[in-house]
Order: sequence, then structure tokens, then C-alpha cells
Amino acid sequence: MAADAEPIFEPDVIVIGAGPAGLTAALYLARYRRKVLVLHDGKSRALRIPLTHNAPGFPEGVRGPDLIARMTRHAVRYGAAIQEAEVAAIKAVAGGFRLHLADGSRRSSRAVVLATGVDLAQVDLPEAVHEAAIRAGVLRYCPVCDGYEHIDERIGVIGCDTNGAAEALFLRGYSRNVTLMPLDFPELSSAEARALADAGIRLETGALRALEPGPDDITVRLDTGVLLTFDVVYPALGCRPRSSLAKQLGLSLTEAGCVTSDSAFDSPVTGVFAAGDLVEGLDQISVAMGHGAVAATRAHNWLRAQDRSTLPSKSPT
Ligand SMILES: Cc1cc2nc3c(=O)[nH]c(=O)nc-3n(C[C@H](O)[C@H](O)[C@H](O)COP(=O)(O)OP(=O)(O)OC[C@H]3O[C@@H](n4cnc5c(N)ncnc54)[C@H](O)[C@@H]3O)c2cc1C
Repeated sequence: MAADAEPIFEPDVIVIGAGPAGLTAALYLARYRRKVLVLHDGKSRALRIPLTHNAPGFPEGVRGPDLIARMTRHAVRYGAAIQEAEVAAIKAVAGGFRLHLADGSRRSSRAVVLATGVDLAQVDLPEAVHEAAIRAGVLRYCPVCDGYEHIDERIGVIGCDTNGAAEALFLRGYSRNVTLMPLDFPELSSAEARALADAGIRLETGALRALEPGPDDITVRLDTGVLLTFDVVYPALGCRPRSSLAKQLGLSLTEAGCVTSDSAFDSPVTGVFAAGDLVEGLDQISVAMGHGAVAATRAHNWLRAQDRSTLPSKSPT
């Protein structure tokens, strides 16, 4: 096709992302009998979950890769196509969207669902060591996900700022033995430091020198010479939303770079919907699934309205 030739708008919807949000959207769209293509670059955060215990319906827990494999199978069973490919750029054009893939090829669709997730801000460890520590459960990033697994254990939190202090206080609900340490230097207000002291949270001031994860615990070296061993360490360093495609489409973003919740499903850019961690709010599997269902339904009904197959008076849900 010549560079400026009219694209063929097929499939109806391209979903970008094959995590819990994107795969739920794909399942719903396929069951709405839409032609749907999922494009993903193989980096769902869910693939890194050793065993989650808070995914509803899995009382014994489920491994992240197993959950993604099941969800992929489920969407494919109803006709969703899934392709591994990085989407480098996206543009709204007359009649739909044109996507440029990193391999140089192009795809087009009438509507898109962005479910591109976030990247974690991680502690500096060689990748293999880092991932082994996550698998061993001595390095964690999400107290909402797995604080329960560390009741009464020795818990360290890295990041002596407002986020770190809030995370340490949250984890105090699980253990009396919580220590907050800075990555570089403490940035706490006196009110925050007082709240931590009142809650019995130990505060270290030395910068992080080294993290030494083992199979059952993790040792932290601070530049003050202090050496501490924990059952688990939670770095509270935030995350970076993968929002470059949302930005290219002109979606409204929070200061942190997430798609705002009101523009996720009622985007000012018609035909674009967003779901999952990319959208501001609670970064969880169950939330991502819920968003995926809403985004897919909005996309389907938006297409129906375009095709005049809804009641004229009724605005699509
Ligand atoms: C170690 C760990 C443990 C966790 N434990 C839990 C837990 O116990 N319970 C819980 O509820 N949550 C947990 N989470 C969080 C959970 O993984 C996320 O909330 C969930 O994966 C969000 O789903 P999502 O679909 O929004 O994003 P993701 O699963 O991150 O998927 C994003 C998708 O977008 C794709 N993508 C992004 N940009 C592009 C692009 N340009 N081109 C193509 N594809 C792109 C990626 O390849 C990926 O497929 C954990 C996370 C981690 C890292």
C-alpha cells in the first residue's frame, strides 16, 4: 500500500495490550461478534506475578503466567486474534486509526482500546537477581496485592518520602516490625516523621548501598554501615505509565501520566477507550478486568451508534 493510500479499517477494534485489561476487552468484543485484534509486546506485568492470592475465583492462588495463558485461550476461543508486536505510533485518521508497528508494518481499525499498563520503577539489581527475588517473595512492589502474605514478618520499605511513608503505614496493619529507609536521603516532613514514630515504624536515615536477596530473606546495606535483614522489602518508588500512545492520541493525562478516569471511557477522541493500570486508580488485576469489560462495551456500542444500529434517542452506554 502506498504511504498515503486509504487504510482498510479492519478489524473493528484493535486492543493494544494483552494483560488482564486488554484480554478481558478482547473476550467481550469477540463475544459481541466484533472482529478484534490484540497487539502486545509481551510485557504484561501480570506475567511477573509468582502467585497471586487476591484474584477473585482462585482461592488457592494463581500464577500470573497461568492466568494470562487462560485469559488468552478464553479470548481466542471466541475469535479474538492475538499478535505479538510493539505499536510504535498511532494516529487518528478519517474513519478510524492507523497504527505503525515497530517492525515497519501498519494496521488500521475503526476503534482502539488502549490497555498498555505501567512500568515499575525498580531497585537497581541485575535483572536475573531482581526477578529471582520477586519469585522468592522477598522483594515485593504492591502491598495491596500481597501484604497479607507477610503478617507479623520483618518488613522493610525503601523510599523515605510521602509515598514511602504512606506505604509503611499501610503495611503497619500487617506487622509491628516495619522499617522505612531512604533510597538516597529522607524527604519527610516533621508531621510525616511524627506519624511514623507514633505508629512504631522504625526510620533509618542512611542511603541504600546494596540489596542482597536470598531464598528466604533479604539483607539491606545502608551507607551508615547499618546492616538489616528482612523477610520482605517493598520499594515504594512509583511507576511510569506506558502512556506514549495515549499522548499521541491526545487523551487527557494526570500529572503522573495516567489516562484520567473520565477520559478512559468517554474519551474526547472518539473511538478511543482505555483500561487497566494505564488509567488512574487502583492497579489491580480485578480492576483491570472490570475496565476491560467497560471499555469493550463502550467501544461496541460506539460502533453500533456509528452504524445507526442503536435507538436514535439513546446515547450508547
Ligand atoms: C510482581 C508483581 C506482582 C503483582 N501482584 C499482583 C497481585 O497479587 N494482585 C493483583 O491484583 N495485581 C498484582 N500485580 C499488578 C497486576 O499485574 C496489574 O495490575 C495488571 O497486570 C494490570 O493489567 P493491565 O492489563 O492493565 O496491564 P499489564 O498486565 O501490564 O499489560 C499491559 C500490556 O500492554 C502491552 N503494551 C504496552 N505498550 C505497548 C506497545 N507500545 N505496543 C504493544 N504492546 C504494548 C504489554 O505488552 C502488555 O501486554 C502485580 C504486579 C507485579 C509486577
